[in-house]
Amino acid sequence: MLDKRQFFINGAWVDPIKATDCEVINPATEQPIATISMGSEEDANAAVLAAKAAFPSFSQTSKQERIDLLKAIMSVYKKRYQEMADIITKEMGAPKLLSENAQAAVGIGHLQGFIDALNYYQFRQTLPNGDIIQREGIGVCGLITPWNWPMNQMVLKIAPALATGCTMVLKPSELTPLSAMLYADILHEAGVPKGVFNLINGEGPVVGSALSRHPDVQMMSFTGSTRGGVAVSKDAAETVKRVALELGGKSPNIIFADSDIKAAVTRGTRHVFANTGQSCNAPTRMLVERAAYEEAMQIAAQVAEQTQVGDPAEEGRHIGPLVSALQYERVQSLIQKGIEEGATLLAGGTGKPEGRNVGYFCKPTVFGNVNNDMTIAREEIFGPVLSIIPFDSEEEAIEIANDTPYGLAAYMDTGCEKRAERVANQLRAGMVRINGSDIDWGSPFGGYKMSGNGREGGHFGMDDFLEIKAISRP
Ligand code: NAD
Repeated sequence: MLDKRQFFINGAWVDPIKATDCEVINPATEQPIATISMGSEEDANAAVLAAKAAFPSFSQTSKQERIDLLKAIMSVYKKRYQEMADIITKEMGAPKLLSENAQAAVGIGHLQGFIDALNYYQFRQTLPNGDIIQREGIGVCGLITPWNWPMNQMVLKIAPALATGCTMVLKPSELTPLSAMLYADILHEAGVPKGVFNLINGEGPVVGSALSRHPDVQMMSFTGSTRGGVAVSKDAAETVKRVALELGGKSPNIIFADSDIKAAVTRGTRHVFANTGQSCNAPTRMLVERAAYEEAMQIAAQVAEQTQVGDPAEEGRHIGPLVSALQYERVQSLIQKGIEEGATLLAGGTGKPEGRNVGYFCKPTVFGNVNNDMTIAREEIFGPVLSIIPFDSEEEAIEIANDTPYGLAAYMDTGCEKRAERVANQLRAGMVRINGSDIDWGSPFGGYKMSGNGREGGHFGMDDFLEIKAISRP
């Protein structure tokens, strides 16, 4: 069992002001793997103080110095890559292959996206009226991240903060603190100056709230649930800080009858099950044109039956457990709700998969004959649960797709290019992915409506961390 009770403040690992132990649980074994400390407001204050002291000099570093720093981080990260993949598997249950090929890999892709963006980013420009516009790091930033894609969320905040000359305090999810602590070591080894990056573990309503309320924190960047994002916004309001939010989703996946139905349904269903359904942009509402509806239900059920659930420590393309007992209970109750509200259970259901009595494993589940008013079509389940909804016309598909409080991603399959463009223009979502395409490193990731207000990745992700100064001269 690892002893990870220290916090990273001012370039060193230090003891918490008051010790409050908490165990980190491996969701596949239900056994503790490490002890961490849950920080207090005093710990958060100490970290902010260090970040505040480091800001005057770090904010004056040149663009080239910061490019070199990001490149140094890249090289240390690559050296410690396997360690990162292994720790993500242990703390959140992502299967080995997923951890190696995606969970840890995004740490390289996003970092490269920021290095590229920083290369071409213009921090200073002259307006046609002669005034100079200068973009400068906003100051001390509070970064709060979730557990589902731990490296992804951390790099999308830490790299742009460094790229823009900001200093920061990270509060990672209390469920996945170990990947964050390893990243702290990587940043230190790469030469991030002391005080620029600080890390405090702890509960959202304690450490997260302390950062959000702190008068010396100028910006909060939050990824997590809509509930958490609202709390951060309220806390931050008193000190008028900037708040960037990346929240939940209930993304539609519109499949028109003129597309390759087998390919589209298989891809869409697999995407929902990937990472055991714990992705904010999962296409959990599959909207299928009536002519292809029966076929789609059959294909999706087959994909679910063929999806293996297994030990994340083992090689293979299986899915792992859900992250925690709480998440397991939540997913179970939403599956039960789907059954009670009259959706047709095509595959999976409540309970654990056969032979998986230990660990928070859950059955890949598909519901057919869902209507968009059912709870399973409205609430983010954050488990491997797909809802299939029929539609009769393009207009109806767009209406159902947009009938959600969220607006993170939208997906579409069609054989008609004109229609793809027409529909994409009407979808109220921050990202539209057509015929299986993916958005590339450096493109903005973020949502409309209750999915948030920020954009992460590349130069769009840097904008949130910058102030704009207008300088005029006679
Ligand atoms: P969560 O909101 O419970 O926790 C996220 C983080 O916020 C954790 O570090 C937590 O400690 C902290 N937190 C919780 N309450 C807080 C409060 N009152 N004040 C300050 N901080 C607080 O979410 P989660 O369960 O860890 O993550 C899953 C959620 O994250 C899902 O809703 C998912 O859609 C969302 N998510 C969104 C994106 C995106 O980019 N849009 C990416 C990944 C995950």
